[in-house]
Amino acid sequence: MKKKESVRKNVKLKGIPAASGIVIGKVFLLDSEEVNIPKKRVSEKDLSSEVARFERALLHTREEILNIQKNIRNELGNGHAEIFNAHLLFLEDRSLIEEVISGLKKEKLTVEYIFYGVLKKYIRAFSKMQDTYLKERISDINDVGKRILRHLFGRKPRGIHTIPEKRIIVAYDLSPSDTASLNKNNVLAFVTDIGSVTSHTAIMAKSLEIPAVVGLEVVTRIIKDDDMIIVDGIKGEIIVRPDQKTLRKYETYRSKFEEAGKNLGKLKDLPAQTKDGHKIILSANIEFPDEIQSVLSHGADGIGLYRTEYFYMNREGLPSEEEHYSAYKNVALQMVPNSVIIRTLDLGGDKYLSQLQIPHEMNPFMGWRAIRFCLARPDIFKVQLRAILRASVHGNLKVMYPMISGIKELRQANDILEEVKQDLKKEDIPFNEDIEVGAMIEVPSAALTAETLAKEVDFFSIGTNDLIQYTLAIDRVNEKIAYLYEPTHPGILKLIKSVIDAGHKNNIWVGMCGEMAGEPLLAVILLGLGLDEFSTSPINIPEVKNAMRSVTFQQSKKITDKVLQMETGEDIAGFLDKEFKDVIKKFQG
Ligand code: PEP
Ligand code: MG
Repeated sequence: MKKKESVRKNVKLKGIPAASGIVIGKVFLLDSEEVNIPKKRVSEKDLSSEVARFERALLHTREEILNIQKNIRNELGNGHAEIFNAHLLFLEDRSLIEEVISGLKKEKLTVEYIFYGVLKKYIRAFSKMQDTYLKERISDINDVGKRILRHLFGRKPRGIHTIPEKRIIVAYDLSPSDTASLNKNNVLAFVTDIGSVTSHTAIMAKSLEIPAVVGLEVVTRIIKDDDMIIVDGIKGEIIVRPDQKTLRKYETYRSKFEEAGKNLGKLKDLPAQTKDGHKIILSANIEFPDEIQSVLSHGADGIGLYRTEYFYMNREGLPSEEEHYSAYKNVALQMVPNSVIIRTLDLGGDKYLSQLQIPHEMNPFMGWRAIRFCLARPDIFKVQLRAILRASVHGNLKVMYPMISGIKELRQANDILEEVKQDLKKEDIPFNEDIEVGAMIEVPSAALTAETLAKEVDFFSIGTNDLIQYTLAIDRVNEKIAYLYEPTHPGILKLIKSVIDAGHKNNIWVGMCGEMAGEPLLAVILLGLGLDEFSTSPINIPEVKNAMRSVTFQQSKKITDKVLQMETGEDIAGFLDKEFKDVIKKFQG
């Protein structure tokens, strides 16, 4: 069966689209082999030299990781480099080290053999965890483990840096350290067995702008080194050993995509406005301050969502006020005069913070998260608010609270903000007293009471990633019910319309920073609903701008009126695809 699989043509595998683009090329299989370690005995007198060998391997691995961290800091900035703190923490894990040493003394087998057993035990334990963030730590453990083994064996790694020519990297997983040491010029795409849209590979691939498909589960078993494959990072598919007909089809598809990309690039300096001159704000979502380059090069009007959770991740202590301040100041200065919306800490759900020791919850997305956590821990919340306010004198900063579910929470958050303002005044520390404050609308109860909320904020930003999961009752990280995640569901569109109307009735602007705002066809409906600001990943910006520039405001309103009469999400999506796709295409470039 396996043999047959290895020569079959046109094998299509469906995974998760992590970074868009279409690539056809030869495979560089980074690692697929199960590590096979012979079970060899060691004598009592050699035990101490085995321990010394293990300690040396740990030391060399540490040096190697620090080196990679330094390189990635230089190339990609601090945000990405901090990911390696988790690797270093694992290396220093006393219980792991002691387990290896005691296993070695008890079983009297080589240190490689004992270490590999302990490593597999850790990986098994992590893979059983419910929490997505913790699950994703498996890739860090795997990476560090392999490095330690390589040092124990005295083997040279088959590193990404050894790629002789342009290749598609296929791996079980692609660790941050792999991506750090790659020669970007020789990498056509990334393809991995594991991973999700929030995994390191996906985040890195997007910011490096290299097409990627992750979560293909069996790809390293099916693919061989040097195989020809097609990577479709738009649909999240790969085709292994394509036949001539499929190759021709994808060559055309790719050149169309590249041509469209070039044309879209020309839009960079043009305004985000409709054919009849209706302007919208088209902003970018970022996780790390060093993504600003990409924000600017894609022609964003500002930053509509700066997710600040990454500050708190992969570290032992909490970030200090100074750390927050210098990051926000830096982003504000780079974006001046455009605005930067800093979202306060949105931990919980799939964003786990190890140092806060939050108890395990059955339903973390409905649990002690985001603003609920911040209101319960004003000590932590105030540090961030102080830093935002202090940085507000350096540019156009706005502050936004996640997961507001009603007016009581909003008032509590605003009261804390007010206290922080008073403290700063007492200390004679300058800040922008009129800083705009917004609420994310991502809980149905907030959407339904938007009229009340609108009276006490300066803007709304609709978080459809969460609003859809809560409204349609679908866990956003559960792949089994992913098909129910339907932004065009009439219930969702009605809810969005009511939020926009409530905002406008109360003279505040309304934006959206959920993924929905980055889909060109959906963006046209949102335009028709009157959305003022669209915020999405930098790479989606040109396409959304193109969609805006392809229609008149009137046209989009008509389309929206029509879809609001429809009964199912499928009808709406089908209608947009049939009637509207061509309108947008025609105007490309
Ligand atoms: C959202 O929920 O739509 C959103 C933008 O926030 P996050 O994806 O960070 O939860
Ligand atoms: Mg959210």
